[in-house]
Amino acid sequence: YPQLRTIHDVIAHHGREHADHVAIICEDRRLTYGELHNLSNRTANAMHRSGVEAGDRVCFLGKESEHYYDILFACAKAGAVLTPVNWRLKPAEIHHILHDSGATLLFADDEFLDMAATLKEDLPRLRRIVPLPAIADWRGTDDTELHAVFGEEHPVAQVYTSGTTGNPKGAVLAHRSFFAIKHALANAGLDWIDWRPEDVSLIGIPGFHIGGLWWAVQGFGAGITMVSVPVFAGHKVVRLVRDLGITTACLVPAQMQMMLAPPRPRREDFSALRKIVYGGSPISESLLGRCIETFDCEFAQIYGLTECGNTAVCLPPAQHVPGGPRMQAAGMPYPGVEVKVLDDDGEPVGPGVVGEVCLRSPALMLEYWGLPEATASTVVDGWLVTGDAGYVDEEGFLFIRDRVKDTIIVAGENVYPAEIENAVAAHEAVLEAAAVGVPNEHWGEVVHCFVVPRQGETVTTRQLVAFLRNRIADFKIPSSFELIDTLPRNPSGKILRRELRERFWQHLDRRVA
Ligand code: ATP
Repeated sequence: YPQLRTIHDVIAHHGREHADHVAIICEDRRLTYGELHNLSNRTANAMHRSGVEAGDRVCFLGKESEHYYDILFACAKAGAVLTPVNWRLKPAEIHHILHDSGATLLFADDEFLDMAATLKEDLPRLRRIVPLPAIADWRGTDDTELHAVFGEEHPVAQVYTSGTTGNPKGAVLAHRSFFAIKHALANAGLDWIDWRPEDVSLIGIPGFHIGGLWWAVQGFGAGITMVSVPVFAGHKVVRLVRDLGITTACLVPAQMQMMLAPPRPRREDFSALRKIVYGGSPISESLLGRCIETFDCEFAQIYGLTECGNTAVCLPPAQHVPGGPRMQAAGMPYPGVEVKVLDDDGEPVGPGVVGEVCLRSPALMLEYWGLPEATASTVVDGWLVTGDAGYVDEEGFLFIRDRVKDTIIVAGENVYPAEIENAVAAHEAVLEAAAVGVPNEHWGEVVHCFVVPRQGETVTTRQLVAFLRNRIADFKIPSSFELIDTLPRNPSGKILRRELRERFWQHLDRRVA
């Protein structure tokens, strides 16, 4: 494995060495490594015939399927840059990605073909749309193996950030971004994922997010069987875990919550499961505690951003002790990764002091596509400015508080939504919570908290305030609460605070008594 430094090396190696081993399962379809290698040769040859050249962007607009990974490997072989599009976006947002990337080829699922055809009228660079159901005809039979010369610095994926902080930007990732952490760990004699040949692993996070794409590449790199689901539905996934004997999974906290929803799964459903890797958004201690109890397996938390190839920091299984001091930590930097925390003047702060988290990592992106100024302000002297507020403790564990821009400032005091949400979610009637800052004449801002009660439960402001009194400082206690059925989230599980703020203004009359 250590010699595999590019995505095309991965498929060429396992396509030869483990040709009969199942590489991917999606619904009732399975492809072995040999088949995936062969198909991606055909797809890469067809890309060449369609005029795709090294460095061209190739977009994918569809739900998770084996096609996505065929196209990923084909892009790597052809030197093209896979640019996945989140199919849940609105046409104007999809247009932004197709236009901004300058894609010349687009693969689209049936259900998006009409929209894609309309958008194409205003996309002069886009030469061709290949309908995924017809990919076999389009790719033809030429399976000549391409001997790709593209090295680890060659771009292979352009992943758009989810846009929770503004217009989506295309983070250009080289092969290195997918392998650097793995190699740094191996060089240090560590291997936290600890793959086993018999592993069957769930790609829970959609592949159009770095979390899903990165996990898939890690699993393929290890030559194990990966499972992809077109749309993540809690009960269906629990059944899949049980029926396929899934051993490892990469999930966002919102997906873990979906899997625990009533009717509660049984421990036996997860008897083969040995590790869940999760991250992408803060997790409340109460949810993590319920996961530890029900899934009954090891947990590793990862923290990172698209811009640093998904993960820079990891909280290992040993730190997942309910009630333990590190349950709210994001983790320790991997070997070769450095973390520093800066104050508002850009000066480093000491242990325990909250500031803006900056990262230096061998997996850092090449650039934001077409945005030299945004690149320069995000990667400063090799340090990625994350936009996250956090601190590092005496032993070097990083704690993420929240996005810097989501910080609520109550009478000059910083309040981090994740801390409030964690405290509120510890109440037995509460499933989850989301806090936002709202303007207040007296204090500047105050905390407004949305509360999702557990099934069949309800809760009053008085009960919540009484509960929070000796848990968090008075200025952090929300001034108002609002019950809500579900929290608006993006597909990577991040709470859409902008939508919650809008809701606050629309429903001023719905406060909890
Ligand atoms: P945009 O920049 O457009 O908002 P995005 O940042 O949502 O897009 P990602 O790169 O997927 O896109 O998300 C990275 C962010 O996710 C981090 O900056 C951090 O806020 C959050 N995050 C990731 N992992 C964790 C974690 N383990 N704990 C808390 N927050 C996390």
